[in-house]
Amino acid sequence: MQDYNPPSPTIFGKILSGEIETEIIYEDDYCIAFRDITPVAPTHILIIPTKYIATINDATEEDAERLGHLMLAGAAIAKAQGCAEDGYRLVMNCNKDGGQSVYHIHLHLIAGRQMTWPPG
Ligand code: 5GP
Repeated sequence: MQDYNPPSPTIFGKILSGEIETEIIYEDDYCIAFRDITPVAPTHILIIPTKYIATINDATEEDAERLGHLMLAGAAIAKAQGCAEDGYRLVMNCNKDGGQSVYHIHLHLIAGRQMTWPPG
C-alpha cells in the first residue's frame, strides 16, 4: 500500500495488507470499511484510512481532505446499510482517555439501537 508506512503494523494494517482476512464492506482510494469484531450495536462498522495515521493528534493539514472523506464515507455506508434515516453515531476515539485501543485512526459507525448521551 503506497502511503502505508507505520513503525510497526497494527491489526488494521494487517487487514489493509490482506495479511488478516476480513470481509471488506466498502472500499475506495482513501479508505476501507469492515465490521467490528466486538460489535457494541446491531451495526458496528469501522472505517479506516488507507494512510497510516496513529491518532487524530497526528493528523496534519495535508490530511484534511482525507479526514473529510472518512466522514462522507461513513454517511454513505450508513445509507447503504439502511440506518441513515433512523440515525447513527460516527465516533473517533483518541488515546487512553478517549478509549482508543488500535493506533491507526478509525471511525466507528454505530447504529441499530437508541444511543445515549453522555457516552461512558
Ligand atoms: P478503538 O478502541 O481503538 O476506538 O477501536 C478499535 C476497535 O477495533 C474495537 O471496537 C475492537 O473491537 C476492534 N477490533 C480490534 N481488533 C479487531 C480485529 O482483528 N478485527 C476487527 N474487525 N475489529 C477489531
